[in-house]
Amino acid sequence: MSDLPPKSHNLGALSAELVQKGKDYYLPNYKPREMILDHGKGARLWDLDGNEYIDLAAGIAVCSLGHQDPDLIAALEGQARKLWHTSNVFFTEPPVRLAEALVNSTAFAERVYLCNSGTEANEAAIKLVRKYAADQGKGPEKRNIISFGGSFHGRTLAAVTLTAQPKYQQGYEPLPGGFIYCDTFNDEAAIEALVDENTCAIFVEPVQGEGGVMPAKPGFLKHLRALCDKVGALLVVDEIQSGMGRTGYLYAFEEDGIQPDIMTLAKGLGGGIPIGAMLVGARAAQTFQFGSHGSTFGGNPIMAAVGLTALTKINHPSMLAGVKRKGEWLRAELNKINQELGLFKDIRGRGLMVGAELVDAYAGKANDFSEAARKAGVLMLVAGPNVLRFLPPLTITEEELKEGVSRLRLALATTKAGL
Ligand SMILES: *Cc1c(COP(=O)(O)O)cnc(C)c1O
Repeated sequence: MSDLPPKSHNLGALSAELVQKGKDYYLPNYKPREMILDHGKGARLWDLDGNEYIDLAAGIAVCSLGHQDPDLIAALEGQARKLWHTSNVFFTEPPVRLAEALVNSTAFAERVYLCNSGTEANEAAIKLVRKYAADQGKGPEKRNIISFGGSFHGRTLAAVTLTAQPKYQQGYEPLPGGFIYCDTFNDEAAIEALVDENTCAIFVEPVQGEGGVMPAKPGFLKHLRALCDKVGALLVVDEIQSGMGRTGYLYAFEEDGIQPDIMTLAKGLGGGIPIGAMLVGARAAQTFQFGSHGSTFGGNPIMAAVGLTALTKINHPSMLAGVKRKGEWLRAELNKINQELGLFKDIRGRGLMVGAELVDAYAGKANDFSEAARKAGVLMLVAGPNVLRFLPPLTITEEELKEGVSRLRLALATTKAGL
């Protein structure tokens, strides 16, 4: 295991072939970095050409226990040798155990619906909040769902309509009706002006992820809770990115001192396998009845066995304390880099969900910095054109984090000099 940044980024023959085929055969809706990642261990990854990287992205907040976690491997292998899939026509043990553990992981939840992705969890929540209003005997006008500018809730037609960012919606019109946008996040007066008797739910990310790593300000979620209670609307927290220990709390909303009615989870819940969940509190726990909603793969025993193991490992005080400590250290280091290089106008986030917003002189250049970081041996993300985003595995060691930050500093300094 070398700590040296990779030296060459000329692709070997196999990497070059695979990159070319990826470009030829995939629909061009992604733009992957030009390398072929081959294997990982902890917070390190290697490409096919032997270059080594520190992982500050974790597959977009998914691989929270790093790569090749032995307990996740054991859960996957153990279940793979027993039973892969049955559909929801039959009970199996792993999803029942996972549902029980999820309900016990948070005070508000009474029941769980398991699915395969974040988008599916939000799609289920969109349907559930409307059916809840319908079941209450409310007229068809009480179906409005409010979300915030800068939010990201997924890519199905309803989830992308809930996502209050035009760039994700353009070209897909006509969009489903009944969605209302509060353009400014963290603006109490703006949301208050929009909530009325026709509101059936508010969806909120306690820390907006794709929208630039923007935490809810203190008291904002409490305000939303009160507004929902006033008009009989449900409060849905989308914790797909901020949940599962990412902020140093098992769920980010805990820091805001509220109880939601519904929470959606995915990403880190599976530690690397596709799984999503919707947790529902007392009010709406009976809204979905037999036949209301469903999924062939949802709660698949393999995914559930891995998810239960991930949840058990993450939901531990020492894990969460480590996330807080490492997150504070990372933000302090970014501040030091910034004193030297003057690149950022804001460094923000909670726990190991960290964003650094570029000063105006480098507006639009986030991707250049991120690509330079890769070439210096550190994988990271952006959140829009102006924000560098860091979501390392929660289990990253201090030594790995240090190495990652020192490579990052080098990449930022050389990129700045060349821009
Ligand atoms: C990633 C994400 C989603 C969508 O999840 P998928 O698994 O990609 O469908 C929804 N909401 C938030 C906050 C996310 O970060």
